[in-house]
Amino acid sequence: MVKNTLVIEWLRQACLSLEKNAGLLTELDAQIGDADHGINMVRGFQKVNGLLGGLASQDIGAILKATGMALVSTVGGASGPLYGSFFLDAAKEAGNRTSMSDDAWARVFGAGLAGIRRIGKANPADKTMLDALQPAFGAFQESVSQGKSLIEASEAMVAAAARGRDATTPMVARKGRASYLGERSAGHMDPGAASAHLLLEAFARAVAAEPAEKA
Ligand code: ADP
Ligand code: MG
Repeated sequence: MVKNTLVIEWLRQACLSLEKNAGLLTELDAQIGDADHGINMVRGFQKVNGLLGGLASQDIGAILKATGMALVSTVGGASGPLYGSFFLDAAKEAGNRTSMSDDAWARVFGAGLAGIRRIGKANPADKTMLDALQPAFGAFQESVSQGKSLIEASEAMVAAAARGRDATTPMVARKGRASYLGERSAGHMDPGAASAHLLLEAFARAVAAEPAEKA
């Protein structure tokens, strides 16, 4: 079961993790981009974090929508509209529910992913955030359909995101600023794939921190 309180805790954890890892993300973006990814993401999630108090009792769709709008308006660069669309499309799928099954939540993740694909038009192996997110949500969905717990599904998702992130290192970028480097983009991890992994790791951390459900 995924509740609105879990979604709030996810976003809070995401902000903490991005603040902690901003230097790393910017460092990665300095190699194959313009060294702003960490700064962009922190600016966006700090804005989101500031909204969370007022969103605490809202439905999941409202929380995700406010997140998407904040990211679109504060995160510069390519990743603002991409992550913004993730949360806005996820919000539409979530609607006015304050809690939902793990399976329904897998569809929320899926809708968000489709939003990123619609806006960015990237394909697998283009060396983008998609290379972490797509296998991660696939692993989440598969674990849930196998009857695994939310904790187990989240752990499988984070492991797949880490593998997908690492797999971007040898890739030649075909989308975004890194694609201007052509072959020279190979040998560096994609910053967006790294931030995607951090976001999903924050979700797993929020799940693990949840008080146990009463049967
Ligand atoms: P910018 O490249 O405009 O400076 P950021 O540095 O914030 O924006 O974000 C860069 C990240 O955005 C890349 O590492 C990549 O993962 C992601 N990205 C760029 N273009 C696309 C795209 N078309 N589809 C998916 N992700 C993309
Ligand atoms: Mg950049």
